[in-house]
Amino acid sequence: MKYLNFKNSEEKVPIGKMVCVGRNYAAHAKELGNDVPEFPIIFLKPASTVIFSGDSVVHPSYSNDLQHEVELVLYIGEDVKNADDASAEKAIHGYTIGLDMTLRDLQNEYRKKGDPWTLAKCFDTAAVLTDVVLKKDYRLRGDEKISLSVNGKERQNSSIKNMLFSPAEIVKFISARLTLEKGDLIFTGTPEGVGRVVPGDKIDASLENIGTIKTQIK
Ligand code: ZN
Repeated sequence: MKYLNFKNSEEKVPIGKMVCVGRNYAAHAKELGNDVPEFPIIFLKPASTVIFSGDSVVHPSYSNDLQHEVELVLYIGEDVKNADDASAEKAIHGYTIGLDMTLRDLQNEYRKKGDPWTLAKCFDTAAVLTDVVLKKDYRLRGDEKISLSVNGKERQNSSIKNMLFSPAEIVKFISARLTLEKGDLIFTGTPEGVGRVVPGDKIDASLENIGTIKTQIK
């Protein structure tokens, strides 16, 4: 079992399900040749794929296009179902930054065939996280900068104000279909600039006032 770590708290919470949103930044949907969605596109990652800042991402041998996606991640701190605006916001107890590592070649193949993307998004070390910042310590303004560089060169640089669906809208949408529970995490989608990484590459990612992730590919 994998546990979350918190800034300024000794609490240890087992990681529940990880719900991910696709195409939540218009410029990223465009760079992959996709339409901007009317509703959030949802997929899952299992908690067993999690590693933490400082650990290495292991490049699967069966892919030639491992890509980085930097994302704001919401920490769900209480059970919620059919949330309204207020209970959606209340269920978000904190935030962290995450990497949604993706096998783009597999994803494109599955997409062409109309098959699920599962194995493009789920492999060991496919999710990189760092400490959760609780809302009592910091509340998102909504325009924090989010960025990622590879070997010191900037690849992704945007602001979470460019998200198509806000954190509360995402929690409302998901919780109308699937109960969210304490320990669940929501990856809220990546801005434009995603790209390939190869063994030896070093990734630095940061979300303003929330945290940074350092990892390398092996
Ligand atoms: Zn993603």
